[in-house]
Amino acid sequence: MKRRLALLRCLLSLLLASIALATGAQQVAPATGADRAARFDAVFERVVGPSSMDSSFVDYDANLERLRVLLPPGDKARDVQFRSVYCSSERWKDSAKGLAYATDALARAQAAGDIASQGRAIFCRVDFLSVLKGGKQALEEAGRMVALLQNSEERQLFAEALSLRGSLLSDMGEQAKALLDFQRARASYREAGIEHEIDALMMLTAVAYRRMGDWAQAERYFTHAINRMEEQRDWERVVTYNIQLGYLYDEAGDPNKAEAPLREALAVARSHQDDASIASVQIAMATVLIDQKQFDAAFDLLAQAQSFAQTREDHWNADVLALLSGQALAGTGEHQAALAHYRVAQPLIERDGNERYLATLFRARSASEEALGETTAALADYKRYSDLQSSLQGKMRFQQNRLLEYEYEIRRRDFENRRLRAEAASRLQQVKALQSIRHWQRLALLLGALLVALLVWLALRQWRKSGTLRTLAMTDSLTGIASRRAIEAGLDHELGLAAASGQPLSVLMLDLDHFKAINDLHGHAAGDRILREASAIWKRLLRGQDQLGRIGGEEFLILCPDTNREQAQMVATRLLEATRAHGLADIDPALTLTVSIGIAQFEPGDTREALLARADAALYRAKDRGRNRVES
Ligand code: GH3
Ligand code: MG
Ligand code: MG
Repeated sequence: MKRRLALLRCLLSLLLASIALATGAQQVAPATGADRAARFDAVFERVVGPSSMDSSFVDYDANLERLRVLLPPGDKARDVQFRSVYCSSERWKDSAKGLAYATDALARAQAAGDIASQGRAIFCRVDFLSVLKGGKQALEEAGRMVALLQNSEERQLFAEALSLRGSLLSDMGEQAKALLDFQRARASYREAGIEHEIDALMMLTAVAYRRMGDWAQAERYFTHAINRMEEQRDWERVVTYNIQLGYLYDEAGDPNKAEAPLREALAVARSHQDDASIASVQIAMATVLIDQKQFDAAFDLLAQAQSFAQTREDHWNADVLALLSGQALAGTGEHQAALAHYRVAQPLIERDGNERYLATLFRARSASEEALGETTAALADYKRYSDLQSSLQGKMRFQQNRLLEYEYEIRRRDFENRRLRAEAASRLQQVKALQSIRHWQRLALLLGALLVALLVWLALRQWRKSGTLRTLAMTDSLTGIASRRAIEAGLDHELGLAAASGQPLSVLMLDLDHFKAINDLHGHAAGDRILREASAIWKRLLRGQDQLGRIGGEEFLILCPDTNREQAQMVATRLLEATRAHGLADIDPALTLTVSIGIAQFEPGDTREALLARADAALYRAKDRGRNRVES
């Protein structure tokens, strides 16, 4: 049983180590304040961050000590972080004290709401519980860690939790479940951005394969792992993996082949003077020697391992040492002594629930009981052994089938995930394409609208411009009445109408009297004003259908459709009088404005020129006859 625990501890150390950092022997100079906090964070990141996954654990404790030195006093958050990793320190040789420290670290992390630190503290608790209370409780605790981190952002730590639970499951004989955890762990490491294979995880996978009887698969993993660790000069793992390979060959029924890796492990462990590693190799070698029936040699090695175990405060490998010592003693015929050892071993093994060891124990005990003549007990134990053994073999087969099912399930899920991801990606692409089409459509629409607006604006501008020009051309700018062009056009029109309808049409030609003199006396501006006022007065006096236009400097033309000679005479007189009556006192109280008017009457066959010539002649007569008068 102890061997199981040693292995478990080894694996746990590996996992802990994988969150550790391998740095050189950096010296920690005294630091204060923010600098100290920053340096603490840097070391902490190297202890738990992604880069830690492949580092050797040679300097793990040294880094924990660095953290201890750097921890800023009174910094509660960092204290919580520190405790959550410091619980994995080698300093906790006494597992009970270690467990108490880890439990306290967990409580602090919970109070601080620090999920990652809670996870790490639980990790420590698993380690100590496995030593103190056995695998079942450790497994429960590991399940707690998995549940805690499952939906958290801590993907790397979640992967570590899965690896840990997987290793415990594997220890409990649940290889298929263990391998499932390892696969999930690998996926979670990827989510954390760690793409490559994690050595510790490969190792756990190898062990699980070994335990399910897939020797070839296991040997492949171990050999590969040993080569990698030798390259990395990670001697502790070289030892561990060689021990694993030794057990593998022994279990595969080839104890002779186990000798080489175990000798290698022993040589490396001795060269580093690591007593725990040496003792672990000795236990493995004793196992092989017992299978080779070299009981004395096995007993010697066990005695050496035992003396190391006694230096420890925990029950380091007590179960496995008792079982193997019993077997070695039995091999040399000391069955009573062997039974005494089995009595020690049994409860420890049962506490762990490791059935393979229990089967070994029943078979060994049955043999000793038989040798001592206790046939009933021997038979009972043999029955226990054979029941357990067949159940174990059944389980192995079952696990292999289970694994196939799980692997199928995982592949199916992977496939499904890939399909969903691909679908999502193509949907996204479709949406993007649609968005880009819409974008261009909107742009085209906008451009079209802009173009239309521009055209409308240009047209409007053109229209206004031509309107202005037309107005300019048709309006006299000084007086605002019709221009010469407009009044001539109006005349042409009226001539047409009059010719067609036979209705009368009168035209009045007006010329202000002595206007030159007004200009000369009062200035051009006054003249302009008078021109404006005169035309305004006349316009007011005319009917709606009459038209007034300026045809020269101070010369005007009025068209009076449907107006005969007498009526025209009346209109002209009214204009004449109004002009004369118009007061110009503000220019000169003595000034009186007068106008001379010539009237012409449309006669059939008249052209514009002919009609105007007659009006002009009449005007000339009015001037000639003294001005300020009407002539027709
Ligand atoms: P009569 O009574 O014979 O018509 O004399 P008159 O001075 O009015 O005629 P004449 O043709 O000799 O002079 C016309 C004057 O009208 C000359 C010019 O100074 C003035 N006149 C022509 N156009 C304008 C104008 O737009 N503004 C002003 N202030 N004066 C103008
Ligand atoms: Mg004139
Ligand atoms: Mg005049």
